[in-house]
Amino acid sequence: MKVFTVDVAKCNGCFNCQLACKDEHATNDWRPYAAPQPEIGHFWLKLRENVGGTIPKVRIHYVAELCNHCENAACAGACPNGAIYRRDDGLWLIEPEKCVGCGKCREACPYGAIYYNDELNICQKCTGCAHLLDNGYALPRCVEACPTDALGFGEESELQDFIVGATVREPESGLKPRVYYRNIPGKFIAGTVYDPIEKEVVIGAKARATIGGKTYHTVTDEYGDFWFNDLPVGKFDVVIEAAGFAPRRFEGVDTSVDVNLGDIAVDK
Ligand code: SF4
Ligand code: SF4
Ligand code: SF4
Repeated sequence: MKVFTVDVAKCNGCFNCQLACKDEHATNDWRPYAAPQPEIGHFWLKLRENVGGTIPKVRIHYVAELCNHCENAACAGACPNGAIYRRDDGLWLIEPEKCVGCGKCREACPYGAIYYNDELNICQKCTGCAHLLDNGYALPRCVEACPTDALGFGEESELQDFIVGATVREPESGLKPRVYYRNIPGKFIAGTVYDPIEKEVVIGAKARATIGGKTYHTVTDEYGDFWFNDLPVGKFDVVIEAAGFAPRRFEGVDTSVDVNLGDIAVDK
């Protein structure tokens, strides 16, 4: 059974995967696997840009999202016409000739993976490039186009090193997605500590962030900056302490988003 892998740490945001998918499917007729994708509006693979923080403490990462070829595919169960079928290699396809465009599959998929083709009046999505796999190609176009090996595709049994400990999108859906992710960054809290009298940054100030009895530690660098990286979502109490200065406290710092606490003045 085939699976996809996505190593977010390796993705440089080049968009080659998204473009390659478009190039492979837009206006190209791969029936019976898939009818031509319209030139605009469909993203069978969408590279999602995630921008966190505020200037100058900003970080960006990219996550490639596509049909998860779920173990329990809700789309297939919702189709009244039996147009969605699973191949022996685990890929789910929408049969263009059977689809009547009712949109039930699209409503049922919690991942937004299905698009409506209003020229042909059918629903469409990633096919895993099954038309290529059946014609001697080892990889789907998006994976083949990725210059950094952030995307992978292969036998589930041979990719266990990646899969064990990996995450999937919204596992609570219960659909058992089969696109596995690693290295999706957690949230950050950052800031810059400075002495307003001397008008200098404070190097080596100790910062700690506490949530539910767990404490993270870091120290300001030569620019007075501190970063807590890869934090869980929650409400943190942050304390900044520097020798000779009064401590600064921030309560309930909410990491549902990345947080830049900005320039933090410390008084003697
Ligand atoms: S991600 Fe959506 S379209 Fe793809 S198999 Fe799962 S339920 Fe179906
Ligand atoms: S496997 Fe093919 S159809 Fe699916 S996202 Fe990649 S290029 Fe697009
Ligand atoms: S092709 Fe690879 S490196 Fe480029 S955006 Fe897609 S996943 Fe990232």
